[in-house]
Amino acid sequence: MTWGQDKTYPEQQKMEPRMTEYWTPQPKVVTPGDIKTNSAPSDAIVLFDGKDLKAWTNSNGDKAGWTVHDGIVTVNKSQGDIITRESFGSFQLHLEWCVPEDISGSSQARGNSGVFLQDKYEVQILDNYQNETYVNGFAGSLYKQTPPLVNPLRKPGEWNVYDIIYTAPIFKEDGSYLYHPYVTVIVNGVLVQNHTEIWGTTEYIGLPQVKTHGDGPIRLQAHGDPSKPISFRNIWLRPLK
Ligand code: MG
Repeated sequence: MTWGQDKTYPEQQKMEPRMTEYWTPQPKVVTPGDIKTNSAPSDAIVLFDGKDLKAWTNSNGDKAGWTVHDGIVTVNKSQGDIITRESFGSFQLHLEWCVPEDISGSSQARGNSGVFLQDKYEVQILDNYQNETYVNGFAGSLYKQTPPLVNPLRKPGEWNVYDIIYTAPIFKEDGSYLYHPYVTVIVNGVLVQNHTEIWGTTEYIGLPQVKTHGDGPIRLQAHGDPSKPISFRNIWLRPLK
């Protein structure tokens, strides 16, 4: 007799629906932003709500020198970039930007700004409405790395909406990435970066560099191009654990 023949074994238990249903913990309730006033969700860290820049400083640590008016903030190029006082790991970030209706210039010299994730990785902000430039420097690109999938920009004078989901990297002891940072970017409701791997810092000159870092602030860029300055409104962030 061969082992296993002419033997009976216990039958596998029959699956029932509730065997694969669990009830706790229930998702925490988050009240979404008001669709009319375009406010932040209840659990967001509000970085700019139209009143002041107290969540920000100039990059030298001085009081943030951009101009708050009419519920928006406009870049003051002489003051340089601004950064958040607080540092963040992984997050969901929402911001809205608008260039003046009579913006001038072309390519990168037309409403250039940028949002730096953990102060290292720039998602480009640029008026690319009927304005071409190198594709990996387009609005919604991971600057000089990955172009946006499409160009969904609104025309000058209208507000563009960025929603960014960022996963912070984990480093090995030798300083290289164990897990790269990743970013997903939605512009005006349209996906432009789909869980894009970030190769390193977004350099203007040269290749991306891998530099060990921990949590970092959000940086908004005051670009030196001579076009009229860009404005922002409604900036909020939800840290992701
Ligand atoms: Mg830029």
